[in-house]
Amino acid sequence: LKYLLTAALVALLIWLIYRRLRPYIQMLRQFISAVRGTIETGTQSELHRDTQNAESKLVRCANCDTWVPQARAFGANSAFYCSRVCLELAAKIRRRKAAS
Ligand SMILES: [Zn+2]
Repeated sequence: LKYLLTAALVALLIWLIYRRLRPYIQMLRQFISAVRGTIETGTQSELHRDTQNAESKLVRCANCDTWVPQARAFGANSAFYCSRVCLELAAKIRRRKAAS
């Protein structure tokens, strides 16, 4: 019975300590999630840098062979066009080819 009482006391003590530490544990969890958030924002900014690289990349217009930044290029069917005019022209040509 003495052992049981000691065990119960120890359990109670652990429970009390846990209760007292719970705000700290929650704070620690928040801190960890905040750190994770920072890491995620870090990777996001890295991704953003990649897209910026892609934006500065030059692509050739499939219709008139003019080199344009990928950000300004009009994309269609994995081909790039310097302007909407070229895009529509190429679409018209393709349609004509399909019709004939
Ligand atoms: Zn063009």
